[in-house]
Amino acid sequence: MIDFNRPPFVGKELDYIKQAVDFGKLCGDGEFTKRCSAWMRDKFQVSHVLMTTSCTHALEMAAYLCDLKPGDEVILPSYTFVSTADAFVLRGAKLVFVDIHPETMNIDETKIEAAITEKTKVIVPVHYAGVSCAMNEILDIAKKYNLKVVEDAAQGVNAYYNGKALGTIGDFGCYSFHETKNYSMGEGGALVFQKDEYLEAAEILREKGTDRSKFFRGQVDKYTWVNYGSSYLPSDMNAAYLYAQLEMADEIDKKRHAIYDYYDKKLRPLAQAGYIEQPYVPEYASHNAHMYFIKTKDLEERTKLIQYLREKGIWSVFHYIPLHSAAAGLKFGRFHGEDVYTTKESERLMRLPMFYNLEMDKVEYVAQCILDYPEFNK
Ligand SMILES: *Cc1c(COP(=O)(O)O)cnc(C)c1O
Repeated sequence: MIDFNRPPFVGKELDYIKQAVDFGKLCGDGEFTKRCSAWMRDKFQVSHVLMTTSCTHALEMAAYLCDLKPGDEVILPSYTFVSTADAFVLRGAKLVFVDIHPETMNIDETKIEAAITEKTKVIVPVHYAGVSCAMNEILDIAKKYNLKVVEDAAQGVNAYYNGKALGTIGDFGCYSFHETKNYSMGEGGALVFQKDEYLEAAEILREKGTDRSKFFRGQVDKYTWVNYGSSYLPSDMNAAYLYAQLEMADEIDKKRHAIYDYYDKKLRPLAQAGYIEQPYVPEYASHNAHMYFIKTKDLEERTKLIQYLREKGIWSVFHYIPLHSAAAGLKFGRFHGEDVYTTKESERLMRLPMFYNLEMDKVEYVAQCILDYPEFNK
């Protein structure tokens, strides 16, 4: 049985969780949370890192900080996880979906401008599979129309655009440390940003509407309720698990790339013969091997191949059902322009097993089973 995913485990996690317990402060912003934040600030060259309970919550915070009013519009791809949309729907915003590039499955930046109205406030590029969107073009549009950019970098932790860490390029970046992501704390995330002007509001929002962070820094002598807010701080136990992984980030990255490269090389003959398509990484992107996907001819072939692999003991999965075709998508949004690729490409894509602790002989077995698939050997 080869699982599609297992939470990464590098070795020191339990040690660090015990240390967190011994420190005697298990709530938010404890020692390990501070270490994780500092590590990211340094590695990703970003001014502010606020750890959160999930990427979904980081996106919610970003939506609050963009100061959206009901009826404001947000431009995003329809090919993404529901959280990208939920965060903005909760603020009463209207979703405007645009088509994707078929090669990267990222938002097609050339379709954004036509979707802008006087209500548009935010563009949300989603860095699918940790492969960067065309950020310069997106930033140019945002500047021209005075829009904010919220990067959904849930899959893009430790991936880069022209040398810049994903998530640190727009106004806000949102990371995920869910167990399915490259670096994990079970459930968790982070909101990152460069501008100091967002800090105070972000801290208050994350701390139940209080200025508790200022209090801990000694900037005020008691903390009080100053605005609306929620509780988005993860426990230091979870941060302890993550810190063990961040310390080993290079190893995790190396292993994932080894799996990615093996699949990519081994399956190339099938792509050359026209049976499948393989991922494409633009020049400007340096990805993090978050996932390895292939595309089959159509939906029917994908269903059959997934079934065939399951019979071989291999779990391969597909995603996403385009948001604009889901019940909530119809209610909260509209698709601007023509859906040329979103639906068609989403029906062809399947993901192969990929996680840090996956043994290479299993990776070889998966690739060999696909090479041996009878339909690809006619
Ligand atoms: C995983 C993921 C999320 C949600 O992350 P959580 O930490 O589980 O909330 C959001 N957007 C994308 C694109 C994702 O892949």
